[in-house]
Amino acid sequence: MFDTILIANRGEIACRVIETARRLGVRTVAVFSDADRGAKHVALADRAVHIGGPAPADSYLRAERIVAAALETGAQAIHPGYGFLSENPDFVEAVEAAGLTFIGPSADAIRAMGLKDAAKKLMEKAGVPVVPGYHGDNLSPDHLSGAADAIGYPVLIKAVAGGGGKGMRRVERPADFAAALESACSEARTAFGNDAVLIEKWIEKPRHIEVQVFGDGTRAVHLYERDCSLQRRHQKVIEEAPAPGMTEEMRAAMGQAAVRAAETIGYSGAGTVEFIVDGSDGLSPEGFWFMEMNTRLQVEHPVTEAITGVDLVEWQLRVASGEGLPCQQDELSINGHSFEARLYAEDVPKGFLPATGRLRHLAFPAGARADSGVRTGDDISPHYDPMIAKIITHGTTRAGALRRLSSALEHCEVAGCVTNLAFLGALATHEGFARGEVDTGLIDRDIDALVVAPAPGPRDIALAALAAEGLLDGTGFVDGFSMWAPLTRTVQLRHGDTDIAVRLTTLGPDAYDLVVEGQTVQARRDAGRWQLDGQSAPRVVLTGDLVTVFAQYGLAFRIIDPLARDGLGAGDADLIEAPMPGLVKALDARPGQAVTKGDRLAVLEAMKMEHSLLAPRDGVVAEVLAEAGAQVEAGAALIRLEDEEETGEG
Ligand code: ADP
Repeated sequence: MFDTILIANRGEIACRVIETARRLGVRTVAVFSDADRGAKHVALADRAVHIGGPAPADSYLRAERIVAAALETGAQAIHPGYGFLSENPDFVEAVEAAGLTFIGPSADAIRAMGLKDAAKKLMEKAGVPVVPGYHGDNLSPDHLSGAADAIGYPVLIKAVAGGGGKGMRRVERPADFAAALESACSEARTAFGNDAVLIEKWIEKPRHIEVQVFGDGTRAVHLYERDCSLQRRHQKVIEEAPAPGMTEEMRAAMGQAAVRAAETIGYSGAGTVEFIVDGSDGLSPEGFWFMEMNTRLQVEHPVTEAITGVDLVEWQLRVASGEGLPCQQDELSINGHSFEARLYAEDVPKGFLPATGRLRHLAFPAGARADSGVRTGDDISPHYDPMIAKIITHGTTRAGALRRLSSALEHCEVAGCVTNLAFLGALATHEGFARGEVDTGLIDRDIDALVVAPAPGPRDIALAALAAEGLLDGTGFVDGFSMWAPLTRTVQLRHGDTDIAVRLTTLGPDAYDLVVEGQTVQARRDAGRWQLDGQSAPRVVLTGDLVTVFAQYGLAFRIIDPLARDGLGAGDADLIEAPMPGLVKALDARPGQAVTKGDRLAVLEAMKMEHSLLAPRDGVVAEVLAEAGAQVEAGAALIRLEDEEETGEG
């Protein structure tokens, strides 16, 4: 076993790897960017090396710097985590050239699976079923359109270099093919610098089922399947293992195909073979096809760990250090069922906008595994993926594991950041999902019901008002008041964009009446516990001017100081602000330029999407407050408009 390893990653996966390394007695070296100086993974590791600026290109993607850090600190091996350099064969070669071990597959194995068309050809040769389609070399639009006709509509155009659903277009009918091809190619060119595509048959009621494999460079075993069909925009939201409705026959067929895929390329370490499955009429061994292989540990690996009892990171370290496969196929078995939900800082009702902010309070419930790279007080920064945690549950049955997931989500406490908890909670209690009727279209079909903004009720608001006044713990209670003249005052709160006034009457340190929207809520403390109208109050935290009531997955209230009210007006209508953290891709506006309502003033790139910022009214650009190429926080002022008359006068 290694004595010291370096983890070329950050966030939850870096913490995850450190945890296992520590258990095995392996010393760990973290690397960090300027933005991660105080990060959890840095605190957990035995040593940490600063590798550059916040942008990934300036730090976590600097292969040479990372290799140098490993050499400087005496690490013998590098664990790449997922993302960043994990599937970069040049990095593997650089690591090996420095005399270090890459904890993962060979550069050749990564290259073999790097492009979807080449991987499909290779798998076809190895006898692994691939999605019917065209993955040849003739990329002329006419030829591709002919290929699509031959495959039969609907078809899917995919970038061969694709990832994250980019450069992918579903085409319904021949008339739409040319335009879809052009836009897929142009997206692929921008995202991957490679505009080659392939065409696939669109699989009806598709399910995404992937098989975890593990190789020693020659032989491989599989650790069963994960169902990742709950997706939004081709991104996984909730994953589970095993797949609902899976038969032993199909499991064996998929497992064999996955092992063949891994052995064909001499795979070493943990990998995932992704299949698309026709779920239109149950599962059948004839109805699954290879999509791609991810040559690294996956985000959702914990559900496999939960049902197999295997620590996949431990296996990675053991195999990379020269040991054989820790287990034979017949020594593995499935125990129960597991779910994982991806908890993100994102504003779901606002179109799943990634959010940033300081986590003023973060606590996870017992009874679930929470893999997280952040703690109370940490920032969700605009530079990286806004994941807060992965919540993983296990049960002997699928229903039991799902009930635990639902309960765990209800009891996650996040204050200071908007989250997708309510969305995840709605999915965990979705009836079709509970019946195991999963396909990749489930979320889209029910999106309206799944995306409901929680609305606080009078009791939630009353509780927030008590917390705001410091009355829950008694610190705000005014001594010496007289019972015959109850103290009454107004507490001002803001939830979202709505201001709420609460009339609060003090009856004693353990009794208050609160009038919210014309309704009276009686708050009483009994044996140290608060009751609202006789019902026990949810947990609540007060952090600065923010009260978070942990009902409905977290209700946030700002405390409004009545004296400062004027400053908190509706905002400055002349100021164009960044609606979310991101990169200023383009600034079209120049000072002095006259603009009309709807003109594009700037383009912000945030979390894989470009957002145009438009002029809210006619006017003149007074100031441009940001620079193209700058990374900005949500709410950063970008452009100020003024009226035309003002310029005339000035
Ligand atoms: P990427 O590498 O960009 O993530 P994938 O090839 O892994 O692209 O596909 C992403 C998702 O797109 C899959 O999980 C599945 O939901 C959907 N998908 C891919 N291929 C097909 C297909 N042929 N028919 C239907 N859905 C598909």
